[in-house]
Amino acid sequence: MKVTFCGAAKIVTGSCFLVEAAGRRILVDCGMFQGGKETTRLNFQPFRFGPKTISHVLLTHAHNDHSGLLPRLVKEHFRGKIVATRATADLAGIMLEDSARIQEVDTEQENRRRRREGLPPRKPLYTTEDAERTLELVESVDYDRRFVVAPGIEGCFRDAGHILGSAILELFVSEGVKTTKVVFSGDLGQWDVPIIRDPTIIEEADTVFIESTYGDRLHESPGDRESELARHAKETYTRGGKLLIPCFAVERTQEIIYAFGNIIERHEFPDMKIYLDSPLAIKANEVFKKHRECFDEEALERFRRLQDAAQVVYCERAEDSMKLNDIDEPCVIIAGSGMCTGGRIRHHLKHGLWDARNTILFVGYQAQGSLGRIILEGAKEVKMMGMAIVVKAGVGQIGSFSAHADAGELLKWMKGFRRKPGRVFIVHGEESASAALKGKLEKEGLACHVPDIGETVEL
Ligand code: ZN
Repeated sequence: MKVTFCGAAKIVTGSCFLVEAAGRRILVDCGMFQGGKETTRLNFQPFRFGPKTISHVLLTHAHNDHSGLLPRLVKEHFRGKIVATRATADLAGIMLEDSARIQEVDTEQENRRRRREGLPPRKPLYTTEDAERTLELVESVDYDRRFVVAPGIEGCFRDAGHILGSAILELFVSEGVKTTKVVFSGDLGQWDVPIIRDPTIIEEADTVFIESTYGDRLHESPGDRESELARHAKETYTRGGKLLIPCFAVERTQEIIYAFGNIIERHEFPDMKIYLDSPLAIKANEVFKKHRECFDEEALERFRRLQDAAQVVYCERAEDSMKLNDIDEPCVIIAGSGMCTGGRIRHHLKHGLWDARNTILFVGYQAQGSLGRIILEGAKEVKMMGMAIVVKAGVGQIGSFSAHADAGELLKWMKGFRRKPGRVFIVHGEESASAALKGKLEKEGLACHVPDIGETVEL
């Protein structure tokens, strides 16, 4: 069997592996590249395979950098099956439609500019129609159940503890008399965090593909993150400002609300409203309520109590979002996108970055070149929405809200294998993070390689 790295190699986004085995060609994930202009341009490059030649896509989870190019694949005549866990199938539904709408709106805006410059219009990467057709191809399966992909190929999704529905993929390939077991970690979550279960320990594999988003970093302890959140809220309140939290709509938003709930109950939260300004996050809340099978008990109990917390206000319509600009009292605004590359958070940044009373608080991974990363790295001025805006607001970060395992947890997961896997490929990380994890795993006696995009390996 052969595996080609079509994305997420020496970069965090664009997850996509082409597996050629038992006379078939299948994909593990088909994600979008996210970050700066150079990275996002990769989304328009031709696929490294003919979409028509692919029979299956096995989708590890609904995040855009794992699922976001599926509608483009369908637009280019992929007609096979997309297999995912039940919760991922539901989440992918709302996320891909949202992603398509963003493509349409962004292209419309760009075309207005292109018309002024006398240039021909561009077509969006894909449309809402493409996203709808994609969803018709999705088949859902249960966790921990082996399913047949094709003769000689079986798969099994195990809980990755990363976001609702997220999975580690075990792939069993029989060619001749030989059966090979390959494990794709997908994105791995943290241990002992609320809402979601812990990542599953896998004990056997011949080859492992492991993510390395935080391969070079350790998170602060989960206990500290609530006190940090409370501190940012109190400091912003004292200055009379707004606490702006760019947030991934799925999982991160629910965890932040959950943490605010704890702080409110402990009377450590100032008298300010929390606006959840993300229609996608509101829809995601509904999917969360539906998939109780994915929660731990503690989270279920907490959600029950939080559902009517009057301090949390949901903004669904664009008008409600715009009204937030006129509020001149301290408040919290949670809005997407998480890396400030699009979505309503950009409007709040436009209205709030220059105001020293405000705080921008990052709670998720910021890819290289994204507006979030530029702000986080201390830029004094940023260019956005066609204008230059000075950055006077305070900037903070709480790493442990991340949905990703840190370096210690990645190592813990790898140590779970009872027999050392023959080969380990380190993917889904910036080059330095992947290299750092490689160093740690090699100390454990594992044979590791950090591949390049476009590289093919024979297993
Ligand atoms: Zn993810």
